[in-house]
Amino acid sequence: MARRLTGNEMELVFFLKVKAMQLQDPSHAGGCPDCLLFLAKVLHQPGIDAVYQPACHDFWNACISIVTTRRTDGEFDALREALRANAAACYDEGAHEPWTSRDLEDPLHRHVHALYECLFSVLSPDEPGQRTPLFSASGPKKIFGNTRGRWPLHPKDLFPHGERQTMEMHIRWCCELFSPVPVYVLQRILFTCRPMMFPHLLKSPLREQFLWCIVQMLHADAGRDTFAWPATVGYKRPARLSSWLGPDSVGNNRNTVDSLLQVISDGPDAGNNDMAKLYEGYEAALLPAVHTALDMVQSGRAEHHGSLCHLASFLGRRMPGWEPHPLTRAWRLERSAENEADVFGQLQAQLKTQYYRRTCSGPSCNRGIQDTDDAKPLPLCSMCKFTQYCSKDCQKADWKRETWPHKDLCPMLRTFVPVLEAESGVFEEAFWTLNLELSQIPWLLTWVTKD
Ligand SMILES: [Zn+2]
Ligand SMILES: [Zn+2]
Ligand SMILES: [Zn+2]
Repeated sequence: MARRLTGNEMELVFFLKVKAMQLQDPSHAGGCPDCLLFLAKVLHQPGIDAVYQPACHDFWNACISIVTTRRTDGEFDALREALRANAAACYDEGAHEPWTSRDLEDPLHRHVHALYECLFSVLSPDEPGQRTPLFSASGPKKIFGNTRGRWPLHPKDLFPHGERQTMEMHIRWCCELFSPVPVYVLQRILFTCRPMMFPHLLKSPLREQFLWCIVQMLHADAGRDTFAWPATVGYKRPARLSSWLGPDSVGNNRNTVDSLLQVISDGPDAGNNDMAKLYEGYEAALLPAVHTALDMVQSGRAEHHGSLCHLASFLGRRMPGWEPHPLTRAWRLERSAENEADVFGQLQAQLKTQYYRRTCSGPSCNRGIQDTDDAKPLPLCSMCKFTQYCSKDCQKADWKRETWPHKDLCPMLRTFVPVLEAESGVFEEAFWTLNLELSQIPWLLTWVTKD
């Protein structure tokens, strides 16, 4: 039973409803960006999500819809001028002071930043170490329950303009704003919906734009990145970097980027070759940036660096001239100690990963949702509900293939699907009900990790 709201909380809910209406009305151009930024700060206060989450679904929808709307340059200019006028009217009325920070002189950037701050507050845990309702379940299948008061309720709330455009616009703002806030929002959305989102990251030009953004965030120093990026990247480094990339906030940025890299390398459906698919060809841009970032970690200005080490180690193998960073060496030693093989654990983890992926299981097919016209998931095998196929031909070929014929695998997978998320003991028990030999685990592992 929800508790009764206090007067102030009711006022906030009313304000959010009004704001949602303003934001949804295209003729209104979204009100004043400075007022919105103030509202975002209120939403960051601890305990407040219990109030606004159930009440203001419309507000979330408005914010995410605006940041992911595609516009022409002319439309962006018109919006910028409208926002400038709205803010000026606010100053004239004495509602608040004019904006003085040098970071966001552009009212459009201020507006988008404020929208991201609002999205960020929804996606952030209320207290450090806690998880938000949206992310309290791990694994994409569990997240979108229709539990009242938990919003966004459904993937469509995250992708009001479709998955591809959502990704395109998030990356655009990450590149333009140079702030950790949109990067954090992108990380949260990728974490929740990696099977839907990751494939889009592999398509040019989004892939290059995304990598460009990561490299700039890691260098945090204008002019250090000398890589010859393709023209499709199209973003220019600002003459001077905002204070988000300045010395005061580098730690925060690195931690945010590290968690983004983690979703890529170890997310719920991360495949063995995902890193290669994303980073290949850009090693020479990425490795210097990662090493710069690791130097900063070493000097104590950032904490999280496991994923940076993972990436450095991956890139280092492809760039033989580079000495491994001392932090990467330490990380490798730790990691090899952890990998003392637990075969059932490995099998379960790999099956789970494969289960969430969105690629065709046809022999040497590998088509993914990024290759389909509508970016819809591929149809599943109706019996095991595990493998997916881009066509009837692929399904037929997989059924009778020479190694790993699906007619043999299908009954096994049918047994594994219900226990993929179960405790390791439960998974192991299910394995034994199949009357398999232990020696079949490597056979299954090679099938499940082939790419
Ligand atoms: Zn204002
Ligand atoms: Zn196929
Ligand atoms: Zn099947």
